[in-house]
Amino acid sequence: TVPVLTIDGPSGSGKGTISRLVAQRLGWHYLDSGALYRAVGVAAGWADLDLDDAGALVRCTFDTKVDFRDDGSELRVIVNGNDATDELRTETAGAAASAIAAIPEVRAALKERQRVFRVAPGLVADGRDMGTVIFPDAAFKVFLTASAEERADRRYKQLKNKGVSVTMDGLLREILARDARDANRAVAPLRPAEDAVRIDTTGLDIATVVERVLALLPG
Ligand code: C5P
Repeated sequence: TVPVLTIDGPSGSGKGTISRLVAQRLGWHYLDSGALYRAVGVAAGWADLDLDDAGALVRCTFDTKVDFRDDGSELRVIVNGNDATDELRTETAGAAASAIAAIPEVRAALKERQRVFRVAPGLVADGRDMGTVIFPDAAFKVFLTASAEERADRRYKQLKNKGVSVTMDGLLREILARDARDANRAVAPLRPAEDAVRIDTTGLDIATVVERVLALLPG
């Protein structure tokens, strides 16, 4: 069977960056599962759907086409034919994704669409429930954490680089609210798989975390 490395954790834990780099080093495929939830969130926004209308959001999940295209420097995400890469990164998209991700039928609808990424020679799967729900049989599982302050700080720098004006306070509040929602929801609450290796990335640089993750794999 095709080997899978799952990398789960809260937003800002460094999952995205680490997963992409590890996949590159291994020459494996990469699944950004959060982008699927964000894509549905963005599509729901385009359609002006009410985030409380679960039925409409479930239909929207089935109707939303998501394609990933690696343009060499970054992974572009195409939603219903439109490049939505930048819009997907906004906190609005993240919050919509988190609301949508609490709907069991949405998660069920996206299950198979995530599993098809398991293609030789291997897959690095980045998300919240990769090791617990989507690839419970994965040979390698990592759970990344970092203090909320550090996660807000990383997000702040990212957004500032992009010229988005935000405040640290606002970001910290948003991150804590999203953490609480992700941890307390009834379906697939954010928690480490029992067999996951936990890495606290607070104070660690990217290269160090990449090496620690790679060290878990043979050869
Ligand atoms: O990882 P990212 O911040 O892009 O995820 C956005 C939101 O999508 C998360 O806050 C979470 O609610 C949801 N999500 C999820 N399961 C995943 C990936 C993301 O519930 N596997």
